[in-house]
Amino acid sequence: MNGNFLIRTFGCQMNEHDSERIGGMLRADGMTPTDDVADAGVVVLNTCAIRENADNRLYGNLGHLKPLKSRNPDLRIVVAGCLAQKDQGLIQEKAPWVDVVVGTHALPHLLDLLRRAEADGPQMDVAEYTELFPSALPAAREDAFRAWVSIATGCDNACTFCIVPFVRGAQRSRAIGDVLAEVQGLARSGVVEVTLLGQNVNTYGRDLTVPESSRRPLFAELLRRVNEVEGLRRIRFTSPHPHDFTPDVIDAMAESEKVCEHIHFPLQSGADAVLKAMQRSYRRERYLGWLERIRAAIPRIGVSTDIIVGFPGETDRDFADTLDVVERARFDSAYTFQYSPRPGTRAASLPDQLTKDVVQERFDRLVALQERISLEKAGDQVGDEVEVLVEGAGRRGGSTQARTRTNRIVHLADPLEPGTFVTARITGAAAHHLAGEVVPAAVPA
Ligand code: SAM
Ligand code: SF4
Repeated sequence: MNGNFLIRTFGCQMNEHDSERIGGMLRADGMTPTDDVADAGVVVLNTCAIRENADNRLYGNLGHLKPLKSRNPDLRIVVAGCLAQKDQGLIQEKAPWVDVVVGTHALPHLLDLLRRAEADGPQMDVAEYTELFPSALPAAREDAFRAWVSIATGCDNACTFCIVPFVRGAQRSRAIGDVLAEVQGLARSGVVEVTLLGQNVNTYGRDLTVPESSRRPLFAELLRRVNEVEGLRRIRFTSPHPHDFTPDVIDAMAESEKVCEHIHFPLQSGADAVLKAMQRSYRRERYLGWLERIRAAIPRIGVSTDIIVGFPGETDRDFADTLDVVERARFDSAYTFQYSPRPGTRAASLPDQLTKDVVQERFDRLVALQERISLEKAGDQVGDEVEVLVEGAGRRGGSTQARTRTNRIVHLADPLEPGTFVTARITGAAAHHLAGEVVPAAVPA
């Protein structure tokens, strides 16, 4: 196809990675990216279904595209991602000007669907299964020095608030050889940091078998094997489940020098009754015990979390328990969410859905507490000298944004080349970033 394309991405890293693949396929087919919607022949909305505002954003965006499509009937509008998988035919019912609806498993068919739309009108493919991982498709990556690598799709858990298992299906792990081949290729092309991606990364491999063996290549083994890839300097992974940070995974993290000292450790709630109703497999003391064990094995590890406020039936007492766990866990940062009922999930039909006012008031208190802790923890780092990877330009002219292994953003005053490593001395701290200065490399005597 000729002409320009524009992709708008909503949601998590999984979607960002899918968008790289969508961009890669369109480029390979002869198209060019543009930032100007008026200039685009193909507009792709890569959607998220995790919370309700994501739905609203899709239909808002489609509303804005309608007059463009009326003026230019050759414009092709594509809806991809989790909402495409969830809403399926409803999308073209609500917005008949959409040309292609492509679900999470059908991404490899995108070009074919666009061609068929050209000839035969609106198309939809929301197949439930594919053999192909997004990482096996061509990519248009944003950075030359870091990359996402898909290691598994789907999730076998059934957290009662979560729509992921409905839109991404059961867990399917990618063969370890395929993952390693991709990482080796990336390292050869100059990538120094990879982030291994999956909905529940640390259950990687449980659905795989090695021919003629009862052994499964599990996440700990994958970490150790990726750690051996020459040229690579940093390994990250997301999103894990606290329950699956088994001792072998912690040992592999501690013993693999390229695996960064950062974990995302989603709490969701600090109240046992709520955790039970969410169908999370741990309780508050167990969670705190696991965290202690990880911190003992990997000192000064950065810890981030996800917390949902206002799950149905959450009492004042339950919420106080969440604040208590947050106080004790001392996370470096937290993604805080107001509970959003997702149609079809078990929690959406529970009684005692809370009012917006109650949820907002609790949410504000939680954010204030976490901001205080984030600032205190950032302050502890002032004076440290740490390795940072330069990621790009900072907000002020001539400045640079870099990242520590523990996943803290560091602002440096000097302009530095993205993809380079420098040592930074931390000179200042805010809740969401650090300030630093470059420590000149020692000149050999
Ligand atoms: N697999 C990860 C885990 O087990 O923690 C979660 C992945 S999910 C894409 C990211 C986060 O979105 C969740 O950790 C949860 O905090 C939040 N989330 C999911 N469903 C939600 C809902 N219905 N309402 C509010 N937040 C939600
Ligand atoms: Fe959703 Fe994560 Fe639970 Fe899976 S483990 S159902 S992705 S919250």
